[in-house]
Amino acid sequence: MGGLPFGERVPFGALVSRRERFEGVEIPPGSLPRLAAACLSILGPAKARVAFGRDLQGLGTISGQVSCEVELSCERCGNPLRETLCCEFCSTPDRELAHSLRLEDRLDLIELGPDGTLAILDYLEDCLLLELPVVARHAEGDPACEVPEGLMVDPLAEGEGRPESPFSALRGQLPGDRG
Ligand SMILES: [Zn+2]
Repeated sequence: MGGLPFGERVPFGALVSRRERFEGVEIPPGSLPRLAAACLSILGPAKARVAFGRDLQGLGTISGQVSCEVELSCERCGNPLRETLCCEFCSTPDRELAHSLRLEDRLDLIELGPDGTLAILDYLEDCLLLELPVVARHAEGDPACEVPEGLMVDPLAEGEGRPESPFSALRGQLPGDRG
């Protein structure tokens, strides 16, 4: 079992002061429910390295890399498609300082809880979610992406002879639909 050296939330300030580093972090798919909902499956634990510290201007930062191999549904052929999501991140909760130094472009701003803790698993999951492709597709010419002839959908044939929605039989039977 890979190591998850922290819980859902970490004390941001203390880790910054200690310049804490976590290498070889493995986040089990069960801890990534939003990512799981956004793809067909998560193929293994997400891997991360995370470092806390202060940059030269004194901003407390969390930086590092997180990656995860997932299976998406190809929008062209409908077959599963493997994708490795990989995100380099560098964020700070020091909003005002970042603004005054005009560093908003180089650093993402994050929110800490009222107790000064960072929801680190949510944060790392957010990073992965941002890497999801807008349109998941096999590469052009990928033999895995062939649509079998018989399954080609003729757009003109649609409509007529289309099976009715299984819910259409329920119409008129629901209390709200009466009268
Ligand atoms: Zn495809």
